[in-house]
Amino acid sequence: MTTNGAPTALPTPSLSTRALHADHPDHTTHPNYPVAPALSLSTTFRSPHPHSSDAALLESAMRGEASLDMQDPSFHIYSRYSSSTNLRAEKVLSQIMGAHALTYSSGLSASYAALTFYAPRVVAIRRGYHGVHVGLDVYSRGREVKVIDLDDDYSAAMEGIDPTSTGKGGLLVWVETPLNPSGEARDLSKYVRLAQAVNAPVVVDSTFAPPPLQDPFTQGADMVMHSGTKYFGGHSDLLCGVLAVKDKKSWDGLWSDRTYLGSTLGSMESYLLLRSLRTLTVRVAKQSATATELAKWLHSLTLPDGPVEEEDEAWGKGKVVGRTTHSSLQPRTPEPGSKEDPSFDPSTQMPGGHAPTFAFRTTNPAYATWIPHLTEYFTPATSLGGVESLLEHRVKSDAKEDPRVVRVSVGLEDVGDLKADLRGAFGRVLQMEKEGKLK
Ligand SMILES: *Cc1c(COP(=O)(O)O)cnc(C)c1O
Repeated sequence: MTTNGAPTALPTPSLSTRALHADHPDHTTHPNYPVAPALSLSTTFRSPHPHSSDAALLESAMRGEASLDMQDPSFHIYSRYSSSTNLRAEKVLSQIMGAHALTYSSGLSASYAALTFYAPRVVAIRRGYHGVHVGLDVYSRGREVKVIDLDDDYSAAMEGIDPTSTGKGGLLVWVETPLNPSGEARDLSKYVRLAQAVNAPVVVDSTFAPPPLQDPFTQGADMVMHSGTKYFGGHSDLLCGVLAVKDKKSWDGLWSDRTYLGSTLGSMESYLLLRSLRTLTVRVAKQSATATELAKWLHSLTLPDGPVEEEDEAWGKGKVVGRTTHSSLQPRTPEPGSKEDPSFDPSTQMPGGHAPTFAFRTTNPAYATWIPHLTEYFTPATSLGGVESLLEHRVKSDAKEDPRVVRVSVGLEDVGDLKADLRGAFGRVLQMEKEGKLK
């Protein structure tokens, strides 16, 4: 944080304060700055005057004698390298993630950047966001990349492969937690332990639990990835990706890669992102609390002693809803045949609350097709993390998904209204079935 010239030092600010003030200029040197950030759209900037210190710095950097600090440059050259609105957004992200953050044009361009950064020849991964797997296929073109399961024997998979000490060209462990679409958490410490035993880096796709819900660096992650399109953006109006690392040297490497992959976040998106980050902690806390209440309620409908609320008698008792999955419902008995182990207790890993997105399985795939179209407040649409609640028949985005699964992205509506909305849709879908209209 910049100093405001106050005579006494303030205690370290909390997350919500950092989200609002981390990028503010110093009052003493910029006494009249605007409260809302400026939107700078220029792609190119006037070159430093030949007599200036910036020109001298640039010249020695070109000769390789000095390095420019691209996190805090004294001048801009071209917006693929740096620009002021984007740097402000990254400054806030870095402060709230407690690491050096870099933004990308989408979540998938961030995940691709993570792959090219570590350049693995073996990747341990299981399910999760389908697009990451397609990106991995693209990365694997023209080179041999072995994809193994998260619980496979890492040493055995590395036989005959000579990794360098940085993990480059070796094994990369990719952990998505909580998982899309189930909202269930995976035991991050366990995979960090397995990875560290073979000196492999761990990337965590933490999209489903943005700050303040979890901090994967606490469990020992090497890199944290987010689809910033989801909770950081939070309003369904910008595409963005984020990678964060603890060391500046890795950030510099990622910055250089991004500059030449060209996956920079645009200024307009940076501006919208910055605006959204101000309210991140308020939005995510409420979305998490509402999702936890909804998941508990949906789960209660399938318990042996049935629904607890009178309004649910008509269609409850497992008639429409089968298994509900959410990190708040862990630990629980693993499902036979599933590789996921929900017996893990995520309370320590997720000290800030549970995932604001989760899923439930219907008892009939036709219900899952129709329910998203029979609600008023939930919109049938893909994506998640926005202020408006969404329902998605997940198999329409991910062909490998169980066709009975409905993903629930919880927005900022009142929890009672959302419950009533779902209840109404459940009643309607049963009515449609009775009338033979469910096709
Ligand atoms: C949406 C999402 C992505 C991809 O992000 P985009 O911004 O759509 O490119 C990656 N991982 C998870 C878990 C996601 O939900």
